[in-house]
Amino acid sequence: MQVVEVVKEYTSPAFVRGRTTKIRRSKLLKTAAYAALSPTAPLAPHVIQRREPGANDVLIDILYCGICHSDIHQARDEWGGAIFPMVPGHEIVGRIAGVGSNVVKWRAGDIAGVGCFVDSCRECGPCMDGEEQYCEKGMNLTYNGYGRDGAPTYGGYSTRITVDENYVLRIPAGMPLERTAPLLCAGITTYSPLRRFGVKAGDRVAVAGLGGLGHMGVKIAGAMGASVTVLSHSPEKRAEALRLGASEFIATVEPRAFQENASSFDLILDTVSIRHDYDSYLSLLRHDGTMVLLGIPEPTPLSAYSLVMQRRRLAGSLIGGIRETQEMLDFCARHHIASDVEVIPAHRINEAYERVVRSDVRYRFVIDISSLKES
Ligand code: NAP
Ligand code: ZN
Ligand code: ZN
Repeated sequence: MQVVEVVKEYTSPAFVRGRTTKIRRSKLLKTAAYAALSPTAPLAPHVIQRREPGANDVLIDILYCGICHSDIHQARDEWGGAIFPMVPGHEIVGRIAGVGSNVVKWRAGDIAGVGCFVDSCRECGPCMDGEEQYCEKGMNLTYNGYGRDGAPTYGGYSTRITVDENYVLRIPAGMPLERTAPLLCAGITTYSPLRRFGVKAGDRVAVAGLGGLGHMGVKIAGAMGASVTVLSHSPEKRAEALRLGASEFIATVEPRAFQENASSFDLILDTVSIRHDYDSYLSLLRHDGTMVLLGIPEPTPLSAYSLVMQRRRLAGSLIGGIRETQEMLDFCARHHIASDVEVIPAHRINEAYERVVRSDVRYRFVIDISSLKES
């Protein structure tokens, strides 16, 4: 699609505490995208407008965008409060096309990544600590949110994106770009808790759910020296789990799977996307072990007994900050880690969504954005 520059005055919907914000924009860039227009509509071609780079912005021509299960949760409004039209996508890799006058870190032609957020307040404790994802004022999500200017945000199922230079990641040279896009969410979401909970060589780590997050968890925990076990409800994934670096595989559908493996693990990363029995999974933790919830299914009951008896801990973790995301990318480059992907053209997004929901993905769908330019 050609760059078309238009002058437009934009009025955002009720945003900050019911206030309506009027934003004068000098130039907007018409951009081809795929969008959901409602929670029940399939995604379809759509045109959005990006802001022209301001002094601190970069404009990125998107090359690849991963399909995260969170895209599906949100496009179908499974978490509530979804904003439509919605252009999902927060696993973005592209090439810098232009930079604002104050930008010092980036030059046209650089390969860059964008993850789950594009801004934050930059003043609160978490922001000052480099954990912008926990911003007290709420991070500005890459899509299904609002930018600091009050305009709705649109994600990576599109040909380009304008982002403040401080919220852009550097992709280390030599990384395969289509296999790197999923690191911007699936990679950091698994890397961050492995670091936070101090996983070290010899620890026994279990990864529940061998999907987009799960397969990255297996690779990264393995590279940290842990002995990794996959807990999967898909017995046919056994061989692949071992190929990905797991030393053991437990088919959770086996009747005695949980009893036979009780009190085995130091850490469990739970990436399962639908409601499941937390108590059974907690029983697999050793004394003082920790289970970290990464998947976000509907509210799920839990017995205090599972935690109290062995002083087990239940934690959650949300993606990672910019600094840690860069650290993860550099770690993956050093260890030659990238995602296993199935690259698809944009018109197959809806089919990909159905397959993700059926756990039929090896292990991340990635949209080749050049297919969108042509459509
Ligand atoms: P995914 O690729 O669909 O993987 C989820 C896995 O859950 C599936 O591959 C499957 O693994 C397992 N699963 C699915 N249905 C199941 C069932 N009926 N019973 C037991 N296990 C089942 O999804 P993803 O992109 O990795 O995302 C996983 C979850 O994490 C989603 O809820 C997503 O929204 C959330 N998420 C959270 C963060 C965060 O920051 N915390 C970031 C990104 C995503 P098996 O076939 O091996 O059982
Ligand atoms: Zn995600
Ligand atoms: Zn903040």
